Amino acid sequence: MDRIRAFRQLFVIAGDVPELAQAQFKAFTKQVPLLYFILLCNMSFVAYTHATVAPIWMTLLFPFAFATFALVRIANWWRMRSSQVDGLEAVRRLRTTVKLVAILGILTSLWSYGLLAYGGPAENGHVAFFVALTMVACAFCLMHVRAAALLLGLTIALPFTIVFASMDGIVLPAIAANMTLVTLAMLYILSTHYKDYAQMVRQRLELEKTNHETMRLNEENHRLANVDSLTDLPNRRSFLKAIEAKQDQQENGGESFTVGLLDFDGFKAVNDLHGHAAGDALLVEASRRMCLLASDKVKLARLGGDEFGFIHNASAEAAFFGQRLCEALSVPYDFDGLRIEVSASCGLAHSTEALQSRGKLVEFADFALYHAKDHNTGKLVVFSDTHRDTMRRAHLIEQVLQMPDLEHQLCYFYQPIIDISRDSLVGMEALVRWKTPLLNGISPALLISTAERSQLINKLTLVLLKRLLADMAEWPADLKVAFNLSARSLASPETMLKILSLIQSHGIDPWRLEFEITESAVLGDIDGALRSLALLRNLGCSIALDDFGTGYSSLSYVQRLPLDKVKIDRAFVVAMMDNEKSRNIVKTIIGMSQDLSLTCVAEGVETPQQVQALQDVGCTLMQGFMFSRPLSWVDATRYIFSHRPVQAPAVAKAG
Ligand code: C2E
Ligand code: CA
Ligand code: CA
Repeated sequence: MDRIRAFRQLFVIAGDVPELAQAQFKAFTKQVPLLYFILLCNMSFVAYTHATVAPIWMTLLFPFAFATFALVRIANWWRMRSSQVDGLEAVRRLRTTVKLVAILGILTSLWSYGLLAYGGPAENGHVAFFVALTMVACAFCLMHVRAAALLLGLTIALPFTIVFASMDGIVLPAIAANMTLVTLAMLYILSTHYKDYAQMVRQRLELEKTNHETMRLNEENHRLANVDSLTDLPNRRSFLKAIEAKQDQQENGGESFTVGLLDFDGFKAVNDLHGHAAGDALLVEASRRMCLLASDKVKLARLGGDEFGFIHNASAEAAFFGQRLCEALSVPYDFDGLRIEVSASCGLAHSTEALQSRGKLVEFADFALYHAKDHNTGKLVVFSDTHRDTMRRAHLIEQVLQMPDLEHQLCYFYQPIIDISRDSLVGMEALVRWKTPLLNGISPALLISTAERSQLINKLTLVLLKRLLADMAEWPADLKVAFNLSARSLASPETMLKILSLIQSHGIDPWRLEFEITESAVLGDIDGALRSLALLRNLGCSIALDDFGTGYSSLSYVQRLPLDKVKIDRAFVVAMMDNEKSRNIVKTIIGMSQDLSLTCVAEGVETPQQVQALQDVGCTLMQGFMFSRPLSWVDATRYIFSHRPVQAPAVAKAG
């Protein structure tokens, strides 16, 4: 049964691999004109040799009808020769071809054998020659369509063998035997060729599929490597590559461009307060808003976290675009009744700034962004020569901070804090200075902010505290000294523990130490700050809030923090002299401090008028150039002993 089915399959166009049928059809159609040409030629010659012996319908009408049909088919082929045929259509057409071949084979056989009745031995020989030659030639034209080639064999060669074998004489039966053998051999060759051909097409299909899959995977990999999965924007890698490409273009005479970096202010709080899902939703919405504003001159990217970037091809428009992005990202976000308000700052650097140092463009934009966040929150800052100079100095500072003998590069100067009502010294504030000429002209504030930015602040904090504890060892046991504690160190539990163990190991009474912190130090992570402050408080140290009045929400923080003192910022002391409002603020701060039992110190007092004005509003503790500039350890020691009753013998400090 199986064999019969397999045999039948030989004569059928299978539709299971449409791509194979497509390939077969394409190969076969190339042979169509040749097939009909051979048939027509051969038929014409046979009709010609039988013209005088056979009836006219056989020698003229039938060949004419056949020729008409062949020409219609050729015309049809010509029309369709370049059209694309899909797999199913190819199967359908091949099946039609197989049927046509069977019909034409039968008709040609009938016509040929009909002619045998009219001709003599020579004409019959011509018919035999015609049938054999036509079959072989047509079978080769059908080599890509095995079913058709086999049917041709069946409809022409089989009747040929039967008819000619039964004829008189030995020539025609011998031709029949010969023809049968040749046909069998030829069909075998065609069959083998077809198998190879089908195999080759299948392999090619496999290969195409594998190639296609490889390409798909490549594209997917490329996408994963270059696209941010949350926002679908290009990622940092793609952003940096694009900048490099633009710099290459610029070096070869292309246009300049601008790089912008954007960062949300207070995004961490969004995640902490509302969860990461809300943070993600905000980032997606932010990227949508950015895309709405971007033109084809702009390439946007998400660089990670809450940081976005853009490359603007028209430098002149970049600042305006960056400012619009800041505004768009700062519009409140509404998610199912949840309203989130954050702002975004932007740093910009023009490619012309980094002509000599192409790798630095992003660093410049980052520096401008950092400045925007620090001094211009929610706004845009363009990288300038001033920034370049600050960067150069920051670089120098980093070099110094990384020196293995950092403690020998730095020292402390001390500024007295005076109780004006008793004209006595109540404490000192330690202010960092350096000995290395490398850092000449660089302010302590820049040293600290650079250390904070380059993650070297905790190392610096510990080096400085050690220095302070050593300096204090030789001062009176009841003299308090204030140490400025960076926000970063306050937020680092590890550093806080080291601070505690340093204090304990130095044998200085913790009561003598006061830690000055700023509001911004507690703003980021208030719970963490409260934990750190509690550690210091428990040890016996006191806490002062520095630069009071310059922060955001001063009064509410004062109530939450375990404070002993507030320090009124110098800006208020200056402003209160010609500004009633500032005077009232200072008055309020002093009143509030008294209510909360906090000590209050006015900073930056420079003139007797300021002293008077402060006294008038009830402030008696002061610090400033009016009393003393920050003093070296030796001068500070002299100052201490000349302004206080001596409680412990002054010991000259070695080194
Ligand atoms: P700050 O804590 O507000 O320190 C007071 C600053 O005002 C000091 O500047 C001091 O020299 C200056 N000053 C004092 N009296 C007057 C005055 O009458 N007029 C004027 N115009 N200025 C006066 P300095 O030493 O340059 O320190 C700047 C900032 O650097 C400090 O501000 C503090 O935030 C930071 N800093 C200094 N030393 C350290 C330190 O050891 N650790 C940390 N984390 N920060 C420090
Ligand atoms: Ca201070
Ligand atoms: Ca201060």
